[in-house]
Amino acid sequence: MYDLHHLKGNTYYIDGPTNIGLYKLNDTDVCLIDCGTHNEGPIIETVLRRNKLILKYIVLTHSHADHSGACDYLMKVTNCMVIASKIERAFMRDNKLDLGFLYGGYPLDEFDNRLMHIEDNDEIYSLEYLPKDLRSFKLPGHHYGMIGIRTSDGVYFVADTLGSKSLINSQHILLIYDVEGYLSSLDYLKTLNGNIIVPAHSEVTNDIIDLVDFNKNQIYEIMNIIIEYLNKEHTIEDVTAKIFEHYNLRMSYNKYMLITSTIRSYLAYLSNKKILKNYFKDNKLVFITMEAFNDKFWLFPKLGSFVGR
Ligand SMILES: [Zn+2]
Repeated sequence: MYDLHHLKGNTYYIDGPTNIGLYKLNDTDVCLIDCGTHNEGPIIETVLRRNKLILKYIVLTHSHADHSGACDYLMKVTNCMVIASKIERAFMRDNKLDLGFLYGGYPLDEFDNRLMHIEDNDEIYSLEYLPKDLRSFKLPGHHYGMIGIRTSDGVYFVADTLGSKSLINSQHILLIYDVEGYLSSLDYLKTLNGNIIVPAHSEVTNDIIDLVDFNKNQIYEIMNIIIEYLNKEHTIEDVTAKIFEHYNLRMSYNKYMLITSTIRSYLAYLSNKKILKNYFKDNKLVFITMEAFNDKFWLFPKLGSFVGR
């Protein structure tokens, strides 16, 4: 762990809980793609020093603390320039913004600030400042303004577009903000097959198809559990509890925040696709499948039932 691996040309990565990209701008100067958690700042600094590298830029794929947490430390010790997309810069300005966004209101004290905390940074530059050998591309789905980075060597850093099989087998449901965007980003990854692809939380590969399908199938499985459960009307919290029960997960404050937010996104996706119907009952927002809704409110027997369907 935390070794510098050569990928191709000037492109390298440092392996860790979050894989960190490294692009050599010349013999000594480098740009990092993400930088790990707050605690990993000194470790990354040591890796750079050991390899006689000077940190000039950090480009962040998104603002989550496991990608950006070390920024503040590395900025202070190296004076490097930090670059991120417009919305991700906004999330980094206020350490309560992401918590409030996920929870949907002022966050409880019980939410783990250490996990989500991002130090305030005064200077975070726009993507216009990206070194010329790097190109950004949008990866909607996981977070508002997440981007991927392609280096001039044709290596793609794809952040949290997907998870490894072991991550999915242990967590079962990964954080998603926009399900439609997430599925389109997964499809985009398939078009990159054959190139070197570096996911943040899975092995480097040039054959991503199988992992993309694994991730997609897990999303479809979750949708099917939701659809099956919603043959009767239920609230968002009911659906979240059902998913926890199905996968035998244990609720915690942080899981509640992350997964309830994700369930809301699944329910919005299925409602917007007209697979689910939503309405208010006893002043509660409830969801039910369109099919069950139509059956429920059918005043006369359906013709189909008379013709031996
Ligand atoms: Zn993330």
